[in-house]
Amino acid sequence: MHHYPIFLKLAGRRCLVVGGGEAAARRARDLASAGARVELIAPVLEPPCERLLDEAPEGLVHRAELFRAGMEAGAALVVGATGDEATDRTVHDACAARGIPVNVAGRPSLSSYLTPVLVDRSPLQLAISSGGAAPVLARQIASRLETLLPAAYGRLARLAGRMRDRVRATLPDRDWRLRFWERVFDGAAAESVLAGREADGEAELLRLLEQERCRAAPQGEVFLVGAGPGDPDLLTFRALRLMQRADVVLYDRLAAPALLDLVRKEAERIPVGKRRGQHTLPQDRLNDRLVELAREGKRVLRLKGGDPFLFGRGGEELEGLIDAGIPFQVVPGVTAAQGTACYAGIPLTHRDYAQSCRMLTGHRRQGQPEMGAHAPYREDETLVIYMGLANLAAVCEQLRGHGLPEAHPAAVVAQATTPEQQVVSGNLRTLPERASAARLASPALVIVGPTVQLQPRLAWYRGEAEARDAEASVDPCWTGGARG
Ligand code: SAH
Repeated sequence: MHHYPIFLKLAGRRCLVVGGGEAAARRARDLASAGARVELIAPVLEPPCERLLDEAPEGLVHRAELFRAGMEAGAALVVGATGDEATDRTVHDACAARGIPVNVAGRPSLSSYLTPVLVDRSPLQLAISSGGAAPVLARQIASRLETLLPAAYGRLARLAGRMRDRVRATLPDRDWRLRFWERVFDGAAAESVLAGREADGEAELLRLLEQERCRAAPQGEVFLVGAGPGDPDLLTFRALRLMQRADVVLYDRLAAPALLDLVRKEAERIPVGKRRGQHTLPQDRLNDRLVELAREGKRVLRLKGGDPFLFGRGGEELEGLIDAGIPFQVVPGVTAAQGTACYAGIPLTHRDYAQSCRMLTGHRRQGQPEMGAHAPYREDETLVIYMGLANLAAVCEQLRGHGLPEAHPAAVVAQATTPEQQVVSGNLRTLPERASAARLASPALVIVGPTVQLQPRLAWYRGEAEARDAEASVDPCWTGGARG
């Protein structure tokens, strides 16, 4: 974090604004409206400051003097806005010596705090800062937010403020309260207030509170959510919404850690492993854990790579919930086969080449592939083999032994849809060696079938790894614009 943001309580506190120009007037007005006792220190006032004094906001006094070190003693906050470097520096040095927070307008280097751009729906306030790097950008963002937030948000926040103690007394559990407030802000209570019907909003809030009180304990639930193959843009809207609501998330090793960044910041994060050969939490313990957490009243997010019902053991995880009577939702995800096919440019079906598609696993319970169990295979179908990289040689050999020729096209796509995506193609004879030479990292998917031949033409997505390799292999004299 660049700077640490806070909101200061300045009601009744003495603050100095040194300067008589427009910047001084703006700061003095804001400080006065936050209830501070503001001393505006300037021998001469320019029109914006004169106008401010004419308005005579409560708590503002003008001292027609030059700033002298010592004036700052006892001040809660000081602003230097003379525009004169020597004076501003004197103000800064005097405050720094006493540890008084000081800001010099337009000079982050002479400031111990920065003044944000404000979107004010008091008591709701949004403060935006670019850390001094791009104040215009911060202002643009603020004006966009101004148009997004109805003025009535202030009223909504005030209503919540009035009800806070009562809600706290009725719902002693913090997570329970959190969920209650989310229902208030997402629902009819907030709608009424925003539409100007404050009394209706309050009545609805009280009705919800009574409903919760009768429940006696917060009710937990489980969201079994498919997070897709890696690219966070491939999440569904529903997945994202539930990720933003979770109190706790249990996640496998996901293709992209960026997915976890989208889970609600306050949610507790529990990795449950599932690397090859390294199950940090055995499946039955995991199922029990889901039940326990939901029984504590938590909204539990079980985040899974790809789709939860495709080689994801999602069905097994639900069994325990059903037995325990825990409510749940299941959200489909883009499975690795689809993500890989689209991002690598290998259609799963094609009118001319492949009329069907099968999804298989290269890793059975004993760890060895058993491709024979699903034979025979056809040359005009696409086979997508999950968990097939570790046993690639055996997988290819078994496919050759069950009806597919040696020259049958096959590819491995590693870390598909992420910036690290890598595609290695060949056929059932050459692929294992090529893949091991490329030192592919998991997760990786094996695709076997005639549409693999279309890959060089249809490939459109280049991960950073591929782009780097392509760059390294370009002849320095080659200046063509198209892909190599
Ligand atoms: N439920 C998941 C599959 C879980 S099994 C889904 O629907 O996608 C884990 C296997 O999925 C990995 O061994 C790998 O074969 C495949 N996989 C998952 N993400 C992948 C990715 N980004 N790129 C390539 N393969 C992936």
